[in-house]
Amino acid sequence: MIITMKKEMPREEMGKMRAHFESLGLQVHEIPADEFYIFGLTGDTASLDESSIKASPWVEVVRRISVPYKLANRAFHPEDSLVQVADFKIGGQEKIVLMAGPCSVESEEQIIRIGTAVKECGASVLRGGAYKPRTSPYSFQGLGYEGILAMKKAKEKTGLPIISELMSSDKLEEFVENVDIIQIGARNMQNYDLLKAVGRTKKPILLKRALSATIEEWIMSAEYILSSGNPNVILCERGIRGFEKYTRNTMDLAVVPIIKQRTHLPIVIDPSHATGDWKLIEAVSLASIAAGADGLLIEAHDNPEKAWSDGAQSLKPEKLKELIPKAKLVAKAIGREL
Ligand code: PEP
Ligand code: MN
Repeated sequence: MIITMKKEMPREEMGKMRAHFESLGLQVHEIPADEFYIFGLTGDTASLDESSIKASPWVEVVRRISVPYKLANRAFHPEDSLVQVADFKIGGQEKIVLMAGPCSVESEEQIIRIGTAVKECGASVLRGGAYKPRTSPYSFQGLGYEGILAMKKAKEKTGLPIISELMSSDKLEEFVENVDIIQIGARNMQNYDLLKAVGRTKKPILLKRALSATIEEWIMSAEYILSSGNPNVILCERGIRGFEKYTRNTMDLAVVPIIKQRTHLPIVIDPSHATGDWKLIEAVSLASIAAGADGLLIEAHDNPEKAWSDGAQSLKPEKLKELIPKAKLVAKAIGREL
């Protein structure tokens, strides 16, 4: 529920109103606004009586939020949220961020080599999977902690912050200590205990959309992280399951403006998992920027034929390099920078 109050309302009256809602077990969030004071209420607001709240001479408008997400809702936070990573921010009108690197870390030498190559192309975050959620238990499962340490070495050598996927909360400390952005993969989008665990940290969390999740389910997963106390959520669309066979997943490009309208969170696009085909990455990347995405998460490998996972959807560094000037032009056309 959103309560808009006159700017002339005495602070003492506001304090009393806040205390009243808190005594009912609700959480009161003050929403920044120039012309009014605004309270956003979360918790079980169903039993609140709108007309008695409106009876206060200081209250202008009482509005029920009809969607289940509150803290992620733009009505609760009209400004774009910016997520700080290393010395830059993601979201709003900040520079569009390029995150690139291999699907899997294969060795320290490999991640340093590819990290150096993607940095030269203009990437500002290095990706690499150390714990891999594979469909088959017989496929390569990732190097585990060794992979995280290799990524840390690559960070030291390249200066790039690193992103890696966390699959289980028993590795949370390892990730908090070593990685700059924690990725929650599509398959764990509704692992609510894991969402609450990363929500108790202040780390940037990149939350991928699940294979068959609606946009509302995805935003509700972000709500879990936000309501556990972590405001640093970046959403990532990576394609959803459809009937089409020419692509690995179906890229739902309309999510970009929908997320921007309904939430204040940054959104990045992963064209690699969305298409499954390196030949489609450039077009989908350019379209994502045109639609307003705040970043791209691209799988890159210098020997994709030999990659231990997802080679077919990995760009060679030279192809990534070719994409950059085009991406900059599209960004410029919509008043952004890359
Ligand atoms: C990945 O980023 O390598 C990955 C497994 O992604 P997703 O969770 O989107 O399938
Ligand atoms: Mn992958």
